[in-house]
Amino acid sequence: MTKEESMDVTDLPGVGAATADKLAAAGYSDLLSIAVSSISQLADAAGVSESVARKMIQASRDGLNMGFQTGADLLKKRDTIVKLKTGCSNFDTMLEGGFETGAITECFGQYGSGKTQIGHLLAVMCQKDDPDAVAVYIDTENTFRPERIVQFAKGAGLDPEQVLGNVKVARAFNSDHQMLLSEKVADLVKEGMKVKLVVIDSLTAHFRAEFVGRGTLAERQQKLNKHMHTLAMLADKFNLCVYVTNQVMAKPDQFFGDPTEAIGGHIVGHNSTFRIYLRKGKKNTRVAKLVDSPNLPDTECIFNITEAGIEDA
Ligand code: ADP
Ligand code: MG
Repeated sequence: MTKEESMDVTDLPGVGAATADKLAAAGYSDLLSIAVSSISQLADAAGVSESVARKMIQASRDGLNMGFQTGADLLKKRDTIVKLKTGCSNFDTMLEGGFETGAITECFGQYGSGKTQIGHLLAVMCQKDDPDAVAVYIDTENTFRPERIVQFAKGAGLDPEQVLGNVKVARAFNSDHQMLLSEKVADLVKEGMKVKLVVIDSLTAHFRAEFVGRGTLAERQQKLNKHMHTLAMLADKFNLCVYVTNQVMAKPDQFFGDPTEAIGGHIVGHNSTFRIYLRKGKKNTRVAKLVDSPNLPDTECIFNITEAGIEDA
């Protein structure tokens, strides 16, 4: 075990249980969040003097391995990445194997484009090669359907009961709840659960509904940014796949090209490792376009959603 894993917030100088609770309530639930905080913000959040806050920040930095890794180390880390297949060969080829662990993949598109279906499918497919794998599904729109899990499990030749047992679903009632639930995933892993996938469906709906009007945009983006950082940390630290869905909105001033754009702007876009644009195609098909990837070309594929899964069109 590394020093980083063995140390937590309560190990910092001047932090007892009460201060740790205050910190957690303000979003400082791990060493990294403290290590990168400003002294005055931390002092406010913890209700301590600036000199105590300074010591806490220093101790967090010492406790964390904030150093550099070699390219060779990183290449070795890439070897541990698992690619979750959809079972649709066009789609899997587009992703050069499937949805990667250690990364956030975002699917954005209009209502009915298939974002939620893919979330359900991944919750099943992540269990295909590993009966102990667990999928965490954070449902913000009340669109999770266990019946769909059963159908996809049958389609994949898996035992539906077993698969359902390894899908942990939580309904998020507002954006704060959603953020809290995502932070709790780390606890599930620490309790020994083999979480391979975290689905957030939808990533942006609550944020969009709660922060209306120009004046609240900065606050919304800040919260969304923090949320995405939690998700990125989960993906990286526990080598799990994060799948998030995102809606699009009309761009009224767009005359050429696609008249829609994803919600959440560059905060969501820049924090997602892979971005896929989904839309309805001809004859009830769906078109998926990889629009942003660090190592794959931008390509497109066409598929059908069926009762048993998704398949080449
Ligand atoms: P969104 O992008 O809004 O999340 P969904 O993922 O919910 O969209 O996609 C809904 C679509 O999925 C439906 O309109 C239908 O075409 C398809 N679908 C849902 N359930 C089934 C099913 N059992 N068999 C075939 N297609 C289905
Ligand atoms: Mg949906």
